[in-house]
Amino acid sequence: MFNKILIANRGEIACRVIKTARSIGIVTVAVYSEADADARHVRMADEAVLIGPPAAGESYLVAERILAVAKKTGAEAIHPGYGFLSENEDFADACEREGIVFIGPPASAIRAMGLKSASKALMEKAQVPLTPGYHGDNQDPAFLASQADAIGYPVLIKASAGGGGKGMRRVDAAADFEAALASCKREARNAFGDDDVLVEKYILQPRHIEIQVFGDTHGNCVYLFERDCSVQRRHQKVLEEAPAPGMTPERRAAMGKAAVEAAKAVGYVGAGTVEFIATQDGKFYFMEMNTRLQVEHPVTEMITGLDLVEWQLRVASGEPLPLSQEQLEINGHAMEARIYAEDPERGFLPSTGRLVHLSPPPVTDFVRVDTGVEQGDEISPHYDPMIAKLIVWGEDRRQALDRMRQALAQYRIVGVSNNVDFLARLVAVPSFANAQLDTGLIEREHALLFPPAGDVPAEVWLLAALAELLREQRLAQKKAVRSADPDSPWHTFDGWRLNGRAGRRLMFRAGEVAQDVGVAVVAGGYWLTLGAQQILARGSLGADSELQAQIGERRLRAAVVASNERRHVFFEGRAWPLAVVDTLHVGGAGEEVASGLCAPMPGKVVALMVEPGARVEKGAPLLVLEAMKMEHTISAPRKGVVKAFRFAPGDQVSDGAELLDFEGVE
Ligand code: ADP
Ligand code: ADP
Ligand code: MG
Repeated sequence: MFNKILIANRGEIACRVIKTARSIGIVTVAVYSEADADARHVRMADEAVLIGPPAAGESYLVAERILAVAKKTGAEAIHPGYGFLSENEDFADACEREGIVFIGPPASAIRAMGLKSASKALMEKAQVPLTPGYHGDNQDPAFLASQADAIGYPVLIKASAGGGGKGMRRVDAAADFEAALASCKREARNAFGDDDVLVEKYILQPRHIEIQVFGDTHGNCVYLFERDCSVQRRHQKVLEEAPAPGMTPERRAAMGKAAVEAAKAVGYVGAGTVEFIATQDGKFYFMEMNTRLQVEHPVTEMITGLDLVEWQLRVASGEPLPLSQEQLEINGHAMEARIYAEDPERGFLPSTGRLVHLSPPPVTDFVRVDTGVEQGDEISPHYDPMIAKLIVWGEDRRQALDRMRQALAQYRIVGVSNNVDFLARLVAVPSFANAQLDTGLIEREHALLFPPAGDVPAEVWLLAALAELLREQRLAQKKAVRSADPDSPWHTFDGWRLNGRAGRRLMFRAGEVAQDVGVAVVAGGYWLTLGAQQILARGSLGADSELQAQIGERRLRAAVVASNERRHVFFEGRAWPLAVVDTLHVGGAGEEVASGLCAPMPGKVVALMVEPGARVEKGAPLLVLEAMKMEHTISAPRKGVVKAFRFAPGDQVSDGAELLDFEGVE
């Protein structure tokens, strides 16, 4: 076994590899870019070396620099993780030339599987079932169109060098073929520097089922069963599970055999995945082979009880596979959800920023969280916006699903847009719960997955108000402890006032909806007024923004995380991003001019709080402006009428711009 290895990657997979290496006594060297100087993988490794600027092309993808670090630090082997240099045959070759072990397959196997078209031709020879289609060299558009006619529509045009769901076009009719081909080739040229395509039958309502294979240098090759990765968006995996629902032992054996044959055909060594597209009636066809450790490998680990990274290290150091095919068994069911910094409501657009609050569910024997970030870390625009992988295990699918739901309900992230709420809805959708899987599930269930924003439940406003009051109380107590006279009545925050019981209002906002909560302090709690409802509330704030609340008769558990003016209420498995509206500044920050109110600084209009024409009281919030990452509320300077707004939400306004026409009344 190796004494020291270098991990040529970052994020969760670098951390994942370091963990196993350490557990078997291997010293680890991390490499990092300037953007990752404080990253978790750097903190975890025994040694870490800076390799360049943030752009991957100048750091994580520079083979020579990484090899130089390996030589300098005395690393005997390099684990490439996934992505980056993991499927780069030139890098595997270069490692060999330098006498460093590449923890992965031989360069020849990577090369053979690198292009989808060439690998299909190879698989054809090995008698692995293929999706019907054309994968030859002729790239003449008219010829390809005639092939599409022969295959029969719908067809899929695929970039031969493609990956990550890019460079694919579904074509439903001959009339659309030419344009789709041109656009696919354009995308392929830009993304992969190679515009060769193949054309294949578009399988309707397909499932993505892949087989984990493992080979060693002694001629052994086994399969570690399947993973179902049918739940995808834009051809990219969102949820993965193992075993595949509905799989029969016969089909598993047939797919396993085909995958092992595929691997053997290219002299495969190490961990690899053979991806198949499967029809609803159980036929399956080879799609491609990923010659590396896959993002979703943990579900296989959970059902086999094995550590695939440990197997990779053993095989790379020349040991035979630890187990034979007959010794491998499936135990229970596992699911993985990819937690991303992205905005599902805006086409899954990646989101960047600081993870102001990051509280994953507690890790147990059944719940695993693989991550490369901690609270306070930055999700930068330079790399993949994955925050973590959440993996759960259960005796059966039902139990795994229950644990996934519970774990997602406990996941709290503030600071970047993220897909946790979306995933929570996804695992609750009846078709997913009933394992009616195919790659179109997310699109088909759009209505359930993207429900209209809807009304904020009364409890959410009340929880936000209670947390606000408890937080103020805690601050006041802290101040009192620090000050000379902790017993001074001026420090208490229980509503004690010279003139008796204090009444005040808190105001919160969800999008453009504002909600008032009246507050009266009573012994041990608060009377909260929400519309016509009056309710007694009390509770305590724990560590990590946990809130134990008693609202009327109900005991509720929630979390309310404050970040600037944001108040993220996590309740019953959903997150409600509210904002607290500062009503203390009567007149707001806005300066009044003759007839209007002006922006106190350049910024963006976030929300209009009243309808034009509305009659408002002094202090009523009229418009919310975002500037320098803070929200500022422009309030009515006195009783009056809002004649008109001059801007709409989303508009940029300059310093001093007149925001609205306001007319005071007596
Ligand atoms: P597939 O290639 O079939 O989609 P995966 O689901 O395993 O297989 O996705 C792996 C992809 O993740 C890589 O192809 C790459 O684009 C991307 N990737 C590369 N490096 C990283 C990283 N450090 N963290 C997250 N994703 C990465
Ligand atoms: P990538 O290299 O981007 O991972 P793949 O060939 O693995 O490309 O395909 C990615 C996804 O595209 C599959 O998981 C599947 O959802 C869809 N797909 C691929 N081939 C077909 C096909 N012939 N018919 C229908 N869907 C397909
Ligand atoms: Mg693929």
